[in-house]
Amino acid sequence: MYTLGIDIGSTTSKCIILKDGTEIAGKSIVVAGTGTDGPHLALEEVLKDAGLTRDDIACTIATGYGRKLFEEAEGEVSELSCHARGVHFVFPDVHTVIDIGGQDAKVLSLNEKGRMMNFVMNDKCAAGTGRFLDVMANILKLDISQLEVEAAKSENPASISSTCTVFAESEVISQLAAGTNLPDLVAGICQSVATRVASLVRRAGVREKVCMSGGVARNAGVRNAMAKELGVEIAYNDMAQLMGALGASLYAYDKIKSGENTAQ
Ligand code: ADP
Repeated sequence: MYTLGIDIGSTTSKCIILKDGTEIAGKSIVVAGTGTDGPHLALEEVLKDAGLTRDDIACTIATGYGRKLFEEAEGEVSELSCHARGVHFVFPDVHTVIDIGGQDAKVLSLNEKGRMMNFVMNDKCAAGTGRFLDVMANILKLDISQLEVEAAKSENPASISSTCTVFAESEVISQLAAGTNLPDLVAGICQSVATRVASLVRRAGVREKVCMSGGVARNAGVRNAMAKELGVEIAYNDMAQLMGALGASLYAYDKIKSGENTAQ
């Protein structure tokens, strides 16, 4: 039996198809979020990836910022619950989840069973989110996936003192003009995101094991800076950006199973 989870974010649409609630049968990531054709493209792509059609899917659950606008799902579940569920599936021993997306950052505290006990969030300011990195990558004419490559070459990360994205943008342009080398500048940019989000993590409480999820977790420059800031190891795997979609797919599986149980 196949279930589908779709996570419709501010910048990116992500899907996961699970077989029998245990095995990943397909995944897709489309860089176009709510209000675009991204969700439908992601749906098409995940079906293609799994070699399935819509008729093969027993249940679809939507999550993420744009979940309420998506009419093809049988239900919706909040992104916090889906992230917690997805992370617990991949890392059963994680107690702190640092989820940095395209327009917000959240820190979730999980109990032993993977239930969310508490969370703190920044959705007021672009600094400390993927938006900050997207703006900076654009100024530096780099693809977002190149930031970690440049940061890895840095020997002396630049200090970005502005806490506001707009001012930091001017600061980066001035530093470029003053001759700061690209790797040091990029490492400073990654450090700046880590420093901002680390203060959220401290507010939520750092309980190991700690993992990073969301699209920004794909950037090793931010992950390494975060590990240093917090003085802990950061668990990561290549499902990081798909944790919400994975959780939604698990909730879709539960929905079918509970329906089967009541039918008996
Ligand atoms: P949302 O759900 O809000 O759309 P995501 O969790 O999908 O957000 O994360 C989107 C962010 O992830 C982008 O703003 C971008 O900064 C970052 N990102 C996406 N792909 C990569 C990549 N390959 N390497 C590094 N960062 C990435």
